[in-house]
Amino acid sequence: MSGSPLLHVSDLTMTFPARRSRPVRAVDGVSFDVREGETLGLVGESGCGKSTTGRMIVRLLEPTAGSVEFDGRNITHLSPGGLRPLRKHLQMVFQDPHSSLNPRQTVARIISDPLLVQGRKAAEARERAAELMGQVGLIPEHLDRYPHEFSGGQAQRIGIARALATGPRLIIADEPVSALDVSVQAQIVNLMQDLQQDLGLAYVFIAHDLSVVKRVCDRVAVMYLGRIVESGDKKEVYANPQHPYTQALLSAIPLPDPAAERTRERIVLRGDPPSPAAPPPGCGFHPRCPRAEDICRTERPLLTGGGGRQVACHLPG
Ligand code: SF4
Repeated sequence: MSGSPLLHVSDLTMTFPARRSRPVRAVDGVSFDVREGETLGLVGESGCGKSTTGRMIVRLLEPTAGSVEFDGRNITHLSPGGLRPLRKHLQMVFQDPHSSLNPRQTVARIISDPLLVQGRKAAEARERAAELMGQVGLIPEHLDRYPHEFSGGQAQRIGIARALATGPRLIIADEPVSALDVSVQAQIVNLMQDLQQDLGLAYVFIAHDLSVVKRVCDRVAVMYLGRIVESGDKKEVYANPQHPYTQALLSAIPLPDPAAERTRERIVLRGDPPSPAAPPPGCGFHPRCPRAEDICRTERPLLTGGGGRQVACHLPG
């Protein structure tokens, strides 16, 4: 892939004010690109800032600092009116399909809504909704049903159909399969991959499950305590992780071969991630890092590297 990125995120930062404690820096200077038609996996434990990053990209949250460029245009501070024409190219799929669908609206209304906002006529929007139902593997005749009449997997298909309605070029998928049964997860992942092939979509795929990310992504960025600590081509990162945190996450993925699973060495991290309200000095990972040395406790490692492969660690490898 070549040319300018479809999405360019630069130094994106989100600080939430707190009443009784220090402000919480949930995302701290995150930068990455996504090219047309590719999938970037944004991974890390719960609370690492990956979902907040996704929400800032689609402007559900206003960043404290940094910028988001979509198709060469800075959209960071566009007004709702300025953002409207771009909305159709930039959509989101949420984690919990049922809570992200209005229970009082029919599926026809839910899927048509983004089209009506874009000024399409009701009959035309309904016709498109029926077409999308078929495209995501649902029965178009079920358009007049309500979300509670569908299973979790079917509801997520409705969420995907709603995101597809306006013909987006980029979808931010925030843990799109983590609320689903394992067997259903595979079906939704397959659907998303088929849609990507057919429609040339790009995804930012946010997940904590590295085995799912391995299936769907071209590149991966690992987040810890609001920062990217390692990024690169998926194959390289999975085959040769350089950051101790990535190594620990990958060592926890179950292996398909039971014999290999019995003999593999698992890296168990001590404790929980620190609070972003009180991050440790130096490397944010040092209180849990099995390789930490003195420098790690005082100097923050920068994300450095070349050829699309970057790591933030004083002692990578
Ligand atoms: Fe571990 Fe030090 Fe690298 Fe941080 S900088 S990940 S503490 S080795």
